[in-house]
Amino acid sequence: MKKRKRLVTFSLLIFVVATVPSFVVHGSGGRIEGKVTDPKGAVLVGAAITVTEEATKQSYTAVTDDQGRYKVEGLAAGTYTVAISAKGFNEGRRESVRLDYGAVVPLDWRLEVATVSRIAMTQQPAGFFGQAWPTLVFMPYTAFIDTTQRTQLMGIRGGTNNFWRYVAPHEIAHQWWGHVVGWDSYHDQWMSEGFAEFSASLYVQATRGNEKFLEFWEEQRKRIVEASPFTKDRKPYTVGPVTQGYRLNSGKTGGVARFLIYPKGAYILHMLRMLMYQQGKGGDANFRAMMQDFIQSHFNKDVSTEDFKTIVEKHMTPDMNLDKNGLMDWFFDEWVYGTEMPSYRFDYQIGSDGSFSGRITQSGVSDSFVMRVPVYLDFGKGWVKLGSASLVGNSSVDLSNIKLPMAPKRAAICALNDVLASSIQSKSVS
Ligand SMILES: [Zn+2]
Repeated sequence: MKKRKRLVTFSLLIFVVATVPSFVVHGSGGRIEGKVTDPKGAVLVGAAITVTEEATKQSYTAVTDDQGRYKVEGLAAGTYTVAISAKGFNEGRRESVRLDYGAVVPLDWRLEVATVSRIAMTQQPAGFFGQAWPTLVFMPYTAFIDTTQRTQLMGIRGGTNNFWRYVAPHEIAHQWWGHVVGWDSYHDQWMSEGFAEFSASLYVQATRGNEKFLEFWEEQRKRIVEASPFTKDRKPYTVGPVTQGYRLNSGKTGGVARFLIYPKGAYILHMLRMLMYQQGKGGDANFRAMMQDFIQSHFNKDVSTEDFKTIVEKHMTPDMNLDKNGLMDWFFDEWVYGTEMPSYRFDYQIGSDGSFSGRITQSGVSDSFVMRVPVYLDFGKGWVKLGSASLVGNSSVDLSNIKLPMAPKRAAICALNDVLASSIQSKSVS
């Protein structure tokens, strides 16, 4: 592979010499080079580097030598993506690496030890819960039975309950949330369970599409806001904040913790993802960077809720800076340390000429409760975010005289279950 690349470079050089000799004087293009080490600084031999020019998608490869060094030469000026992989380590990736003509870009790597290189999954005799250990997942034995048999054994709920569908991604996600990053005290366990549950939503979205993704969040929402015999007929969110963990359970509240630290913990992260999402400008890039930073900053450590808040504040977008102080106190006080639950209503009018107006109302909250509420439009190809409005306390915001290029089919607030709420209604009132 390497030899062939040299040959290609060589023949290109001949071509250059023959046509535009003046360029040759400056050398044979640019290069990217550097050293690869493990977290303790020891050199990594045999790590594979791939350099891809972003415009042409042309790739070049190299392998680190016994000094842990690599060099990719003969590169044209341009923008490159550099990726690196080594057995037992997480992959490294750097995008938009700019290389000027004939320049040398030094790029050293310190690779993180891979979280897990293999996970074993096995059944346990418990029928209704899974359990995660580092590199080992215990699945309920019922998950190995198909839906027909489950229906015969447990009735229709055995066939339709989503528990069996999402128990595996939840338990696998604990390899990160709970294992690589632990929790400091019972106050912080909501991140382990909530983030694992959130991860199941990513699995749903990737494997089953947006419709099932929305069903997933609607199911989570109902767990949080609806009373049931499991919670002694209390609405779970009223019982206490997620930071009370399993201490929320009592003779008076039943098993309410299961209805808060899992679904509300997941919703908290989902709301952050939605707040950070940039339509058409990198999508989840901000959110992904935040979560990777969270893992890397707290690798094999126990984290507190405040540790997570610090990471969120480091990566927050201007849209999230509602208090104009670069802090996320407003969000954590309301959703993590608090028990409030807003309701929303959106009445809108769409004119055939593309004129659009509406009123968003927030209710059921204290005077200081603030939230950013997104507005979506559907032109027939799914939801497109128009923008978002900040609402404070029980109040309304008017959207008036908005001129759209064409009339959308429908509009909605929080179309992707962006905000946890008792109810969200969007209605055309034209
Ligand atoms: Zn769990």
